[in-house]
Amino acid sequence: MILVSSCLAGLEVRYNGTHSLDLRIRELIEEGQAVSVCPELLGGFSTPREPAEIVGGNGEDVLDGKARVMEQSGQDVTELYLRGAQLTLDKARQVKAKAVVLKEYSPSCGSAMIYNGQFAGQKEAGNGVTTALLRRNGITVLSEETLASYLQQNR
Ligand code: SF4
Repeated sequence: MILVSSCLAGLEVRYNGTHSLDLRIRELIEEGQAVSVCPELLGGFSTPREPAEIVGGNGEDVLDGKARVMEQSGQDVTELYLRGAQLTLDKARQVKAKAVVLKEYSPSCGSAMIYNGQFAGQKEAGNGVTTALLRRNGITVLSEETLASYLQQNR
C-alpha cells in the first residue's frame, strides 16, 4: 500500500480550499494501491485555513524544537503540525505503507523544497514536518515530482 497526500488525490483540502490533483495518484487510489491522508486536517485544521510556513529552519528543525510553524498573521501553529505528523506516521504504519507520496513545497508535506518562512513566495531546500518525521522513522517519502521513477521501478 502507498499513502498519498489527499490534495494530490483531488480532495479540496488545501489551505485555500483547492486541490492539486495528480492523475497518477488518483489512478493508484482507484486501483486500490493507495489511500490518502492530509496531515494538516489530521492535526486539527479545517479548510480553508491561513497559509503557514516554517520560520527559522525546516521540518527537521521543527522536530528538534529549533524552528516553528507560523501562520501569516503570526499565530504559532507548531503543535498542530506536530500532531498531524504523528498521526500520519501512525496511519503509515497502520496500512504498512511501502512508500508515502506527499505534495511538494508544503510545510507539512514538502520533501525537497519548502517556502522559506518569509511569506514572499520564495522556496528553499528542506522538507516539511510530516516528511521529516516519516523519514526519521525509516519511511520512504516521495513527491509528485519524483513519483515517475518510483512507478517505473515498482509497477
Ligand atoms: S500538502 Fe499535505 S497538508 Fe497540505 S493539503 Fe495537501 S495533503 Fe494536506
